[in-house]
Amino acid sequence: MRSLVAGNWKMNGLAAGLAELASLKAALAAKPPAAEVLVCPPFTLLAQAAWAVKDAFALGGQDCSPHDGGAYTGDISAAMLKDAGASYVIVGHSERRHYHGERESDVAAKTQAAWRAGLCAIICIGETESQRDAGDAHSICAGQLDASVPDTATAQNTAIAYEPVWAIGTGKTPTSADIAAMHAHIRSCLVRRLGEGAQGMRILYGGSVKPENAAEILNLPEVNGALVGGASLKAADFLNIITAFKVV
Ligand code: PEP
Repeated sequence: MRSLVAGNWKMNGLAAGLAELASLKAALAAKPPAAEVLVCPPFTLLAQAAWAVKDAFALGGQDCSPHDGGAYTGDISAAMLKDAGASYVIVGHSERRHYHGERESDVAAKTQAAWRAGLCAIICIGETESQRDAGDAHSICAGQLDASVPDTATAQNTAIAYEPVWAIGTGKTPTSADIAAMHAHIRSCLVRRLGEGAQGMRILYGGSVKPENAAEILNLPEVNGALVGGASLKAADFLNIITAFKVV
């Protein structure tokens, strides 16, 4: 399994931001990384990014419609992402769940739409702070996996991102022991549900990953990559996270 370090630019980035991708491309060409690298810019930059990056690393969308096309004003289909140069799409990010009311069934439908277009889906799960404080983090994540990961998920078409909601954009992170325990729990849920093939499914950690904490977090057992928000916007920071990864 090759680890995956993914950057989620969220609603950040104008055309001038493409210079960061050019810097990242140059740095990765000079020193090829152990991990696979993915950047998910806003929809508006995808096609230009694909041109700028020219397969030096992967590109993805931050969301997609569950529908393949039609009268859905403002929505973007998985096929449109693919056409613009994406090979991945993030689905079920906590900001989509919170601001757009997305439910587990929506996440499952978006995942299947991603697959129909030939994209790999990165399905985000994670507990809130009150759920963790109540001791419910593991059961909440197990429930999210059950309801949002379709039965036909494979290591090739799906990755899971464990992103504790309270750690996203806050500078707070779980302890290393808590991250390792959650990733082991997610792995056992996946294998129980999907079979031994799920041993190869990548489980990413996301939530305030920065150059300063990347080596500690990303080299924990069962951490097969990272989903990085704020620290992916600057090529230098993102590169320091990418290179923190162990060789796998
Ligand atoms: C994210 O948006 O998925 C994320 C993890 O953000 P940040 O790294 O800024 O916490």
